[in-house]
Amino acid sequence: MPVIIPKDLVGEDVLEREQIFIIGENRAQTQDIRPIKIAIVNLMPKKEETEIQFLRMLSNTALQIDLDLIRMGSHQSKNTEMEHLNKFYKTYDEIKNNKYDAMIITGAPVEKLEYENIKYWQELKNILEFAKTNVYSTMFICWAAQAALYYYYGIKNEVVDGKIFGVFEYEKLEEDKLLKGFDDEFLVPQSRHTYVKEKEVRKHSDLKILASREDTGVGLVTTRDNRFIFSFGHWEYDRETLHSEYIRDLEKGLEVSVPRNYYKDDTPEKGINVKWRSAGNLFFSNWINYCVYQVTPFHLEEIQQKNVSKFGGTSLSDAKQFSKVKNIILSEDDRGVIVVSAPGKRSNEDEKVTDLLIKTSDLKKRQEKINKILANLKRELNICNFEISKVLETVKKRFEDISLDLNLNEDIYLEIEECFKDIEDSRDPDFIISRGEYLNAKLMAKYLDYEFIDALELIAFDEAGEINVEESQSNIREKIKLNKKYVVPGFYGKDLSGNVKTFNRGGSDFTGSIIASALDSNIYENWTDVDGVMTSDPRKDNNAKTIPSLKYSELAKIIDDGAEVYQKDAIAPVMEKNITIKFLNTNSPDSKGTVVKD
Ligand code: ADP
Ligand code: ASP
Ligand code: MG
Repeated sequence: MPVIIPKDLVGEDVLEREQIFIIGENRAQTQDIRPIKIAIVNLMPKKEETEIQFLRMLSNTALQIDLDLIRMGSHQSKNTEMEHLNKFYKTYDEIKNNKYDAMIITGAPVEKLEYENIKYWQELKNILEFAKTNVYSTMFICWAAQAALYYYYGIKNEVVDGKIFGVFEYEKLEEDKLLKGFDDEFLVPQSRHTYVKEKEVRKHSDLKILASREDTGVGLVTTRDNRFIFSFGHWEYDRETLHSEYIRDLEKGLEVSVPRNYYKDDTPEKGINVKWRSAGNLFFSNWINYCVYQVTPFHLEEIQQKNVSKFGGTSLSDAKQFSKVKNIILSEDDRGVIVVSAPGKRSNEDEKVTDLLIKTSDLKKRQEKINKILANLKRELNICNFEISKVLETVKKRFEDISLDLNLNEDIYLEIEECFKDIEDSRDPDFIISRGEYLNAKLMAKYLDYEFIDALELIAFDEAGEINVEESQSNIREKIKLNKKYVVPGFYGKDLSGNVKTFNRGGSDFTGSIIASALDSNIYENWTDVDGVMTSDPRKDNNAKTIPSLKYSELAKIIDDGAEVYQKDAIAPVMEKNITIKFLNTNSPDSKGTVVKD
């Protein structure tokens, strides 16, 4: 029985470790006490002997026990007086509306028969089914343990060679309420021809093997909630029971060996050595105390089947549905476990919560993908920003170096600074690309002390994006004064919206030629880094020779053949006015270069 101790006298961990069972003072004062109702389904042949054996085990507790003895109605016992049976025993039909705190189903001498061939199998199945919902904890002994494992779990037993016969030592495999106070090893009488293999039981996670041996199979198994206990041995056996069975079998002429570890020195003549009693008593009192008395409901009627009721999303789509469901649940007592779906559609047009959640999860996946792309882009953007500033730094330094080396006036640096700020702020490719010509013209104008005139003021494009020759020529004639000197950036002009528009690569040649044409110049000098137009590209061919003179058409052909010395478009404006082009070498100004005319 539990020890009642003042709260906090000993730490809970100590109590747990020492396996001391306590109840607090409060619980003790308020605990409801009533007799424990136990049923014994007695399948043993000598019923009176078995009754006494179990009563002895059960009386080992201070509780009042209210006992029902149950026999199989579908079987006539040969070994027990009918009078006794009629007087003390009930059949399943008589108890089927009862509830019990505990039930014991004893062993039976039918182990070699197929379950289905046993006369009372159907009746026993009714009792096994009954036990599920009407008994708090059921203990199955020996054959009943095998039958119950078969009925509830489909686990089959197997016949052993010889007989598992004698007193067997088991090791405690797991801690359990049933084994509180047990030594690490304990003894149990066994007497059977069949056994259940440990590996079959291990397949069921709600079963716990407390004792097992290779030669006897599992010895003690329990459901994790201790509501079914499968005890393969006979702790209830008297001193003489195994002996009587031994003699009985010998007399029947059966081949049976001396029950092992039972007689002193395994010698029948030396008498019986009882070694299982203390463990057996402890086992039964643990069962009654921890698995029955402390946990069974005070009102036995409350032991009932927990039916499972599942309510789908349509049944739970809104509060109104919830209230209907509540009424349904409460209208039957046995609706013990309710399984619910997520709220479903409230109307045809509505969306199920699960669909919305799937949508959420899909969007989350997409969000994650986008975030990844964004993170990558961010990384790329950072690299790009870094490279932009590096490249611009390099370009800026080019202009600053020229300005520095030329000792240009300080204010050029402000212009450079401003120009690079404009580049940073701009997204217009033509504007950005044109800034090389623009700034170089600024530097040169400063250096020469000539007037800077922006190409935007001179070169105009039409709506088709082509150069508007007429307007450009008129601008040039208007803006370029005869008595003044100018520096003009090449390569770009102004489109109809007033924005910068660049020519094709090498387009400064064109800027020069259109201005020369507008101003009716005699000569258009095109200074480069080689001695004029040559027979081939001197950068690639050491034997390239300067061509002293060319016609415009010959120059066009050479350009068509790949010479990149002049932009082809820039021939027409000067050719139309018969302006001579002179290709000259900045690095060798005295060389004659190439003269191009008609
Ligand atoms: P710029 O910047 O002066 O306009 P370009 O690079 O546009 O100079 O053109 C001059 C370059 O053209 C020369 O450095 C030379 O390598 C190349 N080139 C290719 N073919 C010829 C050729 N047949 N005659 C002269 N130069 C040529
Ligand atoms: N700077 C421009 C280019 O590299 C224009 C030119 O060189 O005439 O194409
Ligand atoms: Mg060029």
